[in-house]
Amino acid sequence: MLAVGRMVGGCEGSGRRFMEIRPHKTLSNARRAAMERKNGVIVVDLQGGFTQWKHGSLALPGTGEEYERRAERATIRLRDMGFLPFGRQDWHPVDHMSFAANHAGKNPMNVILTVDGRTQVLWPAHCVQDTESARVLIDNNLFLAIVRKGQDPRFDSYSAFRDDGGEETEMENVLVANDVGPLVIFGLATDCCVKATALDARLYESRGRHCKNAVQRN
Ligand SMILES: [Zn+2]
Repeated sequence: MLAVGRMVGGCEGSGRRFMEIRPHKTLSNARRAAMERKNGVIVVDLQGGFTQWKHGSLALPGTGEEYERRAERATIRLRDMGFLPFGRQDWHPVDHMSFAANHAGKNPMNVILTVDGRTQVLWPAHCVQDTESARVLIDNNLFLAIVRKGQDPRFDSYSAFRDDGGEETEMENVLVANDVGPLVIFGLATDCCVKATALDARLYESRGRHCKNAVQRN
């Protein structure tokens, strides 16, 4: 797994095992499955709410229109190299707990303690469902699937794979269904949602469900 922009967690593991495989006419199912698995790329939160281009409430530095164009070109190039592209979309209800406006007397960037003892940074309202802030800016037709997260008003969700309450998104199922193994992760923001997604992607790669799925189909 590779997290573009800033390496998170390294890329040792399944990728190295892949490189060690040597073609042989009596390959085991497991080895053949490992060889058949596909590379994937998850583009994280390329949405209006996080970009300067769309004057997002959580706009990150360096995210003008040119950034979006470069991200789209990178996605196209990876797709043309054989990577299967998937998107991830922050998709909040208006009463989401991460919005400062939903906590009396609180402001964005304040930190609160949740009822289950976690700390939560409060944000300005962003990526509210069916608003321009939530729209994925890259050509949506590039993606095999766009997985949404953050719908549960009780929990924030930085990882593409699960929310802070532990509820899994559809990401892993989508990857398994497409026999995806190694992953490249990029998008917004590197130190937050890209990082959380990359760490969970590493767990996904190490579990090897994609290999099991391929074996079962044989
Ligand atoms: Zn959010």
